[in-house]
Amino acid sequence: MYDVKSLKAEEFINDEEIMNTLAYADAHKNDMALIDSILEKARLRKGLDHREASVLLACDDKEKIQQMYELAEQIKKDFYGNRIVIFAPLYLSNYCVNSCVYCPYHCKNHHIARKKLTQEEVKNEVIALQDMGHKRLAIEAGEDPVNNPIEYILECINTIYSIKHKNGAIRRVNVNIAATTVENYRRLKEAGIGTYILFQETYHKKSYEVLHPAGPKHDYAYHTEAMDRAMEGGIDDVGLGVLFGLELYRYEFAGLLMHAEHLEAVHGVGPHTISVPRVKHADDIDPSAFDNSISDEIFAKLCALIRISVPYTGMIISTRESQSVREQVIRLGVSQVSGASRTSVGGYTDKERPHDTEQFDVSDQRTLDEVVRWLMEMGYIPSFCTACYREGRTGDRFMSLCKSGQIQNCCHPNALMTLKEYLMDYASPETREIGEKLIEKELENIPKEKVRLVCSDNLNKISDGLRDFRF
Ligand code: SAM
Repeated sequence: MYDVKSLKAEEFINDEEIMNTLAYADAHKNDMALIDSILEKARLRKGLDHREASVLLACDDKEKIQQMYELAEQIKKDFYGNRIVIFAPLYLSNYCVNSCVYCPYHCKNHHIARKKLTQEEVKNEVIALQDMGHKRLAIEAGEDPVNNPIEYILECINTIYSIKHKNGAIRRVNVNIAATTVENYRRLKEAGIGTYILFQETYHKKSYEVLHPAGPKHDYAYHTEAMDRAMEGGIDDVGLGVLFGLELYRYEFAGLLMHAEHLEAVHGVGPHTISVPRVKHADDIDPSAFDNSISDEIFAKLCALIRISVPYTGMIISTRESQSVREQVIRLGVSQVSGASRTSVGGYTDKERPHDTEQFDVSDQRTLDEVVRWLMEMGYIPSFCTACYREGRTGDRFMSLCKSGQIQNCCHPNALMTLKEYLMDYASPETREIGEKLIEKELENIPKEKVRLVCSDNLNKISDGLRDFRF
């Protein structure tokens, strides 16, 4: 039985409820009065539930879809302004005991080079990332209790935070590792992580079990209940995601929103972020083997509807996607992008983009400088801000910042100050010139005069060599 507050996976992600939702959506997809009323509710910017959002997803009326896109764009502007947060993944180890059929790290893949970074190598990777200008990382590892135990992950986090190369610093480490215990989540929290990210891959239990035929990840309930354990361990920023292409996108979309509703109902705070990866080619993985792949058009619609349904949840797009797809979904709702990513273990210290230990092919292969310039040329402010979690604004405290409308007096100046650091320390002359003009113009968009003055003063101090200011 469906119960949003249950702590049992099959009750809060309930197959029958999803099937009923999809049937309801099909039955009402041409019911324009209902669709208009759902859009009207969405305009209140308080989100939609999985049933309402599923009706919009099923609707294929061009005019209504256009209205969904316009609303998504407007909500994106209202909540996130024109800031785009930038991060990079850091692969620590590709040792893995699981057998995920879509992932080249599966344990039966004997020809992929297995590699785990030593602390010296972590240091070199971090220096390479800092030298590009990165301040925020997402660490990634396969699941292997012998090769990558939690102690190894904790040691790496410690190393990452300890390195200060030139003006560089990694100020926020998000963690994408396999589902684990409450105790281990507590230790991650104590190590100072930002968001704990875990992709559900698929919410469909039967498919999940087929796609994860062996290893600890086979356990659907343990995986699906991971975010509840993470929150019990004190981590209040969690990141959800589905690997689109594995199952029917409509099923996944309903499941994703039910998961968000569950976290809100039980813990009083929804997911901090939602990621939208699609299956990509990688070593021995052929994406065409998965027959649920989605077109760019459906992908854009999904992104727009996530934006409308959970307005306070950040959305992440990785370099799995091409520049043009990224452009479209940034407009429709994405708030964080990765840049200059290397998805191989040790990839940042290799001069050439290595392929031997890559987790998936990267579509967007531009440098960070190119990504920063591209964002600015489209009118966005690339932000390297990490202030919220360092100021203790996580979980519901972050959400109340969003809801109070104070973001423009907080995130906006923080974005400008961190962009200024980037321009001073890492940008090419062309990028710096565009950035300086952008900062000058955007300074005027800080509503509170006092904040504007402090920000302007801090920008001058950054020019003089000082670093790390924040609101
Ligand atoms: N090992 C951890 C786990 O199982 O959750 C997390 C790290 S894994 C390196 C990060 C994510 O990459 C997975 O959750 C999966 O969604 C995604 N991934 C795996 N294979 C992929 C592929 N071929 N294309 C795109 N994304 C893939």
